[in-house]
Amino acid sequence: MVKETGYYDILGVKPNATPDELKKAYRKLALKYHPDKNPNEGEKFKAISQAYEVLSDADKRQVYDEGGEAAIKKGGADSGDFRNPMDFFEKFFGAGFGGSGGGRRRERRGKDVVHQMSVQLEELYNGATRKLQLQKNVICDKCEGRGGKKGSIEKCLQCRGNGVETRVQQIAPGIMQHIEQVCRKCSGTGETIQEKDRCKNCSGRKTVRERKVLEVHIEKGMRDGQKIVFTGEGDHEPESQPGDIIILLDEKEHSTFAHAGQDLMMKMPLQLVEALCGFQRIVKTLDDRDLIVSTQPGEVIRHEMTKCIAEEGMPIFKNPMEKGTLIIQFEVIFPEVINPSVVPTLKQCLPPAPEVDIPIDAEQTVLEDFDPKQRRQQHQRMAYDEDDGGYQDGPRVQQCTSS
Ligand SMILES: [Zn+2]
Ligand SMILES: [Zn+2]
Repeated sequence: MVKETGYYDILGVKPNATPDELKKAYRKLALKYHPDKNPNEGEKFKAISQAYEVLSDADKRQVYDEGGEAAIKKGGADSGDFRNPMDFFEKFFGAGFGGSGGGRRRERRGKDVVHQMSVQLEELYNGATRKLQLQKNVICDKCEGRGGKKGSIEKCLQCRGNGVETRVQQIAPGIMQHIEQVCRKCSGTGETIQEKDRCKNCSGRKTVRERKVLEVHIEKGMRDGQKIVFTGEGDHEPESQPGDIIILLDEKEHSTFAHAGQDLMMKMPLQLVEALCGFQRIVKTLDDRDLIVSTQPGEVIRHEMTKCIAEEGMPIFKNPMEKGTLIIQFEVIFPEVINPSVVPTLKQCLPPAPEVDIPIDAEQTVLEDFDPKQRRQQHQRMAYDEDDGGYQDGPRVQQCTSS
């Protein structure tokens, strides 16, 4: 049991989420609420980042599970300070992500555009080509990226062409602070164009939105979270290199198989008779072949036993002729009851039961089903009964009080 679930709720996962599930949830939400896409959701972006920063660290997660957010905030410099959400984002996604939101680049480049693409496990297994329609900024061809008529561009008077304004603010009597901010008049370009000279096509913005269809080749053996980069296909901005379009694969859950690295895992329920006497099952592969899965005569399958089939896992990326392993975990379903008349016959087939010496003064007991939840309720009711003095419940409660 965890003390509170706030951080889990922010990421939309259950408190028993695996590290992989947490990672996936963060990835999805961080992309959705990144300030590039959702400029008004800065607080949400920060909350997502902080929640994941705690839950992705096993030690901090334990502190949170036991003591909640207060325990994390009290944790001091080590666990109480959060990293800048933007730095955290860029570290998570690797360099080249996040556009211009973070620090300055070495060379001027347009923003990278990140798209998450849902893929079925079948597509990662067999490979696939998908078409993706998106919008991006391209240089306006009417004004060739100038934003207006030739010679109409003037240096911004507000910032003297620097693109940056410096404001002086008094933060306390006699203490002044210089604040640098992007020039509001020219949006940091350092240039202004008179209204009448502005390019009609791009309204002086120098770029226009354009629809673009990309063919995305999903290769055999690609994984959840893998990036496919289209270099130079991102947003164009004047006097800078175009950014990249980055496709991030998001693997959908599969009804039969779970994907663990190069291996596939599946659960196979077996009736007890199959576990003891052998079975045959057909497993449909991700490329639609039928595999016969069976045991040797006399072989017994225990509950939760795992077996594997070589070369039936996922294809290896860049080497798809080789495949990982298919791991099967068995779930043996025991019958609820057995007809007492067949018990002697059954006994003859199974290994003998141990013989037990029963002391002469041994006491007979009744073996009941155990339900921890019900026991708690009974205890509460007992406490109530004692206060009340009168009311007594059925035999089960009495048995417990006498023990
Ligand atoms: Zn234009
Ligand atoms: Zn300016």
